[in-house]
Amino acid sequence: MKTIAISGGKGGVGKSTVAVLLANRFVKEGKKVILCDCDVECPNDYLLIGQKLKNPEKKVYTEFPKLNKKKCKKCGLCVKTCRSNAVFQVPGKYPIFIKDLCSGCGACWTVCPHKAIEVKKEETGKIYLNEISNLKTQISNLPPQRGEVRPVLLGGKSQNSNFWLITGVAKAGLEETGPVVAKVKEFALDFAKKIKADYVLLDTAPGTHCPVISALMDCDFAYIVTEPTPMGAHDLSLILDLCKKLKVKAKIILNQADLGDKRKIQKIAKDYKIKIEKEIPYSKKLVEAYSKGQLLNFDFIKV
Ligand code: SF4
Ligand code: SF4
Repeated sequence: MKTIAISGGKGGVGKSTVAVLLANRFVKEGKKVILCDCDVECPNDYLLIGQKLKNPEKKVYTEFPKLNKKKCKKCGLCVKTCRSNAVFQVPGKYPIFIKDLCSGCGACWTVCPHKAIEVKKEETGKIYLNEISNLKTQISNLPPQRGEVRPVLLGGKSQNSNFWLITGVAKAGLEETGPVVAKVKEFALDFAKKIKADYVLLDTAPGTHCPVISALMDCDFAYIVTEPTPMGAHDLSLILDLCKKLKVKAKIILNQADLGDKRKIQKIAKDYKIKIEKEIPYSKKLVEAYSKGQLLNFDFIKV
């Protein structure tokens, strides 16, 4: 099983489009594919392929710290330990935990020598599972015929399909969405093992922050989608630096390649010794299909 991230420092460069096109390509080749939308603050892959998010398959919970003042000795160790600056303490007073900055990493309650930090679980997101292609074998209500092989059901879903969409959605207003992405990815990888998927495609959020890092970590490689603009070039360098730090091999896809000056992108690719794997020209047909939610069946190779 290969795990491939589709990322791009800048938003709006066509990351989700490329993710769907790649999924289409692999499905066409007869592979079992999971497309996992890890842009949990604004997932849109389901819209691009005309799907609806109905009942969540799973809820995502994150653990947050809760101070027990009776046990706290105001030593300040939790403040020093927190890498997210989510604990604030006025000297001599009790520490204050700032939930908006907290990633739920657990470091503070692990280090607290007086066990004064309790853990409070809160729902922070939902995971949706859509089966995209038609079943090769329909499940009938009739009892199975002698020798008939039926698809195995997993949470009411068939395992006989070859294209699945997993969508993570963070709770509205949640500031730190990295842990939600980590849980969505974990769900996708577990599901992929169960159905013996060939590919898991992780469509990340734009940027280089925590949710993007969660999605990129431990991937076999990443397609970095960019565009031939100064901002595209700037953000491309940032995401390539991040991939280097995470030791994730990067390949560049240049979208709308004929609409700007691509020399900067070519120079960056040369500097980082990375190949521009594919150039996608502007296509009105593709834009129309994108806006109508009809991107299924577009072939990555032919666009
Ligand atoms: S580490 Fe524990 S005891 Fe020390 S200030 Fe933080 S909560 Fe209180
Ligand atoms: S759980 Fe992690 S991020 Fe949150 S306050 Fe504790 S140390 Fe900081």
